[in-house]
Amino acid sequence: MPRKQPTRKRVTREKPLAEYKRKRDFSKTAEPAGEPVKRGSRRKLHFVVQKHAASHLHFDFRLELDGVMKSWAVPKGPSYDPSVKRLAMEVEDHPMEYNTFEGTIPKGQYGGGTVMLWDRGTYEAEDGGGEESLRDGYERGDLKIVLHGERLQGGWVLVRIRRNEGGRRQWLLIKHRDEMATSKFDVVATVDTSVKSGRTMDEIATRRGRVWQSNRYGGDEEPAATRRKKPAAASPKKRAAPRRRRATRSTS
Ligand code: MN
Repeated sequence: MPRKQPTRKRVTREKPLAEYKRKRDFSKTAEPAGEPVKRGSRRKLHFVVQKHAASHLHFDFRLELDGVMKSWAVPKGPSYDPSVKRLAMEVEDHPMEYNTFEGTIPKGQYGGGTVMLWDRGTYEAEDGGGEESLRDGYERGDLKIVLHGERLQGGWVLVRIRRNEGGRRQWLLIKHRDEMATSKFDVVATVDTSVKSGRTMDEIATRRGRVWQSNRYGGDEEPAATRRKKPAAASPKKRAAPRRRRATRSTS
């Protein structure tokens, strides 16, 4: 069957983050406008997973590459079971500033709904080849990575399978068979709190009782002095560590 549409212009040929910016009205959403970040090649690369209750609940899986966050919407979220293949629809690159975003995108705005920072950490190429290997894997549609998150750890692969009608690339997110793999632990069902604030989706959506539409406090964040203590049950790890106001993105 002939393709319905001509080869789509690759969004990556545009200015970085052009599509991201086109879709959003930053006078109405507290999401960061953001610019690509230039950094030394030796620095560790970050990943985040954001749980997003938009029109359909999904998990946004984001991997830092070349100063932006490559992004996939994973409707069912990641699985630790290597026999489970999770559909991951590639979406527009996001700015790295998005990595600390948690809060509510106003109704009527692009992606309107509650966003929880569900996991964060660093990641690397499985073969140890650094960003060059990751870039190559991304282009080939066979991206093998090792995650060092609080909820997600170990080897994973993103395999590109096809484009959908809109020209969006579809991938599968699959756990590698390693010591972290298990079919006994449903991580998205079990872990339902923010890795950043310990809040549930409902707490993010309602407890604050408001939608931040300005950047005054940076997304949904409150001033440090009034920030509620995190519930002890949220995550046993790193609970006591004082958090910086914003993740540092300069050098380390
Ligand atoms: Mn999303």
